[in-house]
Amino acid sequence: MTDSEPDDGLDALRHEIAACRICRDAPIRGLCHRLPHEPRPVAVLSRRARVLIAGQAPGLRVHESGLPFDDASGDRLRQWLHVDRPTFYDRDRFAIVPMGLCFPGYDANGSDLPPRRECAPVWQDRVLSVMPQIELVLAVGGHAQAWHMGAMRRENMTETVRAWRNSLESDRQPALLPLPHPSWRNTAWLKRNPWFEEELLPELRRRIKMLTC
Ligand code: SF4
Repeated sequence: MTDSEPDDGLDALRHEIAACRICRDAPIRGLCHRLPHEPRPVAVLSRRARVLIAGQAPGLRVHESGLPFDDASGDRLRQWLHVDRPTFYDRDRFAIVPMGLCFPGYDANGSDLPPRRECAPVWQDRVLSVMPQIELVLAVGGHAQAWHMGAMRRENMTETVRAWRNSLESDRQPALLPLPHPSWRNTAWLKRNPWFEEELLPELRRRIKMLTC
């Protein structure tokens, strides 16, 4: 925090999040289900950003670097947003807060586990409360959509994203735009749903340009 910035609780919350060890020390399903590694919460909180990227959970590479979306998914997301890395990582432009702030580990098939269930109820409302300037939430993937959209969410991710105009045109504040996760696993989904690139991405880029200038 600089001298000119108000003591609005954001820095205190940053420190609280960095120190969180709930999934190591007090997992809700008992110690047998504790996080199998040292927690490393990864989030970008911001006083000025008008766009919040609400993702899923860090993967191993992000866990190691501490930089959100520092991977191929991030490259694709930046391409969707039409921004370069310096712009993406400018905390005056983008806040980045996944549903689970720590890498959740792998399942038996070697896939990333879902975000830890402990995390969102503890942190999400508090994070939003210290960033009242946010004007647009990008709900990236089903977990973020489930948390941020409530009854606006449709029966599955495809239908939720397909109804993106309804989300944007609702009177919800901040505005919300659902996106699929930019993982390579969704490459086939992108091919099956050309409307995403043809219709949604131009509107996404228009809004990002307006909100990050
Ligand atoms: S995932 Fe969330 S609740 Fe669990 S240790 Fe990390 S910050 Fe804490």
